[in-house]
Amino acid sequence: MSGQISFFESVGNYVDKAAAFTDIPKGLLQQIKACNLVLRIRFPIRVNGDYEVIEAYRAQHSHHRLPTKGGIRYAESVDQDEIMALAALMTYKCALVDVPFGGAKGGIKINPSKYTVEQLQNITRRYTTELVKKNFIGPGIDVPAPDYGTGPREMAWILDTYQAFRHGEIDSIGCVTGKPVTQNGIRGRAEATGRGVFYGLRECMSYEADMKKIGLTKGIAGKTMVVQGLGNVGSNAALISQNEGDVKIIGVAEREGSIHSEKGIDIEKLLAFRAETGSIVGFPGTKTLANNLAALELDCDILVPAALENQITRANAERINAKIIAEAANGPITADADPILIKKGIVILPDFYINAGGVTVSYFEWLKNLSHHRFGRLENRFQHNAFEGILTKVQEMTGKTIGDRERDFLTRGGTEEELVNSGLEDTMINAYQQIRDSFQQHSAISDMRTAAFVCSLKKIASDYISMGIFP
Ligand code: NAD
Repeated sequence: MSGQISFFESVGNYVDKAAAFTDIPKGLLQQIKACNLVLRIRFPIRVNGDYEVIEAYRAQHSHHRLPTKGGIRYAESVDQDEIMALAALMTYKCALVDVPFGGAKGGIKINPSKYTVEQLQNITRRYTTELVKKNFIGPGIDVPAPDYGTGPREMAWILDTYQAFRHGEIDSIGCVTGKPVTQNGIRGRAEATGRGVFYGLRECMSYEADMKKIGLTKGIAGKTMVVQGLGNVGSNAALISQNEGDVKIIGVAEREGSIHSEKGIDIEKLLAFRAETGSIVGFPGTKTLANNLAALELDCDILVPAALENQITRANAERINAKIIAEAANGPITADADPILIKKGIVILPDFYINAGGVTVSYFEWLKNLSHHRFGRLENRFQHNAFEGILTKVQEMTGKTIGDRERDFLTRGGTEEELVNSGLEDTMINAYQQIRDSFQQHSAISDMRTAAFVCSLKKIASDYISMGIFP
């Protein structure tokens, strides 16, 4: 919650602001904004000989496309408002990146570190059972995925529980995404959100004129970055930016504190250090800052909040010194901090664009599950033979020999991971170009968030209109 308005209301306010740049009728806009279904669940589990009542939710924001899709988070912050807001963001996110799903979100109000693996498994299986009972899960109904506090392990428990109830349902493996690769998951899903953050940033920074306006040179290479949260999204965004984008990570914030080094922090080594010591504090060559929010205020080119919502508020917005903020987490900037940052000339890449890599690759996983074979299985050998034939002909015609390494490169089909990453890269580039076009078309739009909402709203409205629901 920020000030007086709730997270869900603040998403609605952003939508209203963008709707002013469209001709969507009022009634249709009301339907687009509404959260269609919310399942509120309470169930008991036994913890250390006592009973505890667990509070959980699943919200399906929009059914204009089915199935609905969105992660499940385990966090103490979970409440109905948060889950509805995150479900709404999923609707706009899916529309923006052309993933044909409605938005959903689930959450269990727990701190997973306080439970044993067995207790977490009980909680996850019981939650899934409730979803099955209420018809809130299924490959054509609602498809969960990992989010804050959950990962492939929880998705495997969800799949197994679902299949126990739906024995023999041929597409049951598509009831959840983000599964382990050995459990019908897809290569590249675990890194997808962080990888998408990198692709989105790289695309944004490739426009010389845009970068000049914020005092940066074109290109991501050599730029400085601060990352908050070294979980799935933050660690992958940082690692990939460092390794593939030549970005210098100068600050990192985690629960236990924040650290700074002008010379740069090797993220691979930092992750190993944290795994060993349980903390980022004390990492050699870095200075420990006053508290865990302090790193957000460092002078840097790119700030990547990748932990939870409400991290940049009216209280610290004035002190943010980044040129670009990539909202890798959902809702890290409160509604009242947003205008302060825009006024400071900071470019904000909104959450429902910049963290869309996860749902994009989840969509690829779902497609793979429904097609019941891995990408490339049917065509790779055929393409290889066809390319071999072409190269042999080229050799015959030119009298020149193509070396073995070049030949291998030119004839082999893409691996699953390469295909997934290229699909993700294309998606993030296309979506950025749509946002940028929308920004340039409307001189009165002053921020990328509004421009992105305009893109999503137009697509969702057109879906409703083509369904014949609204004239
Ligand atoms: P995660 O649980 O893997 O990691 C979150 C990290 O944030 C943890 O390392 C945690 O210790 C850290 N953290 C918690 N409080 C902090 C604080 N006060 N300061 C600094 N660090 C703190 O979660 P995740 O999956 O990486 O998700 C992070 C964010 O990204 C969430 O907002 C989530 O909704 C969003 N997101 C995740 C995905 C995905 O595919 N996992 C997709 C889209 C969006």
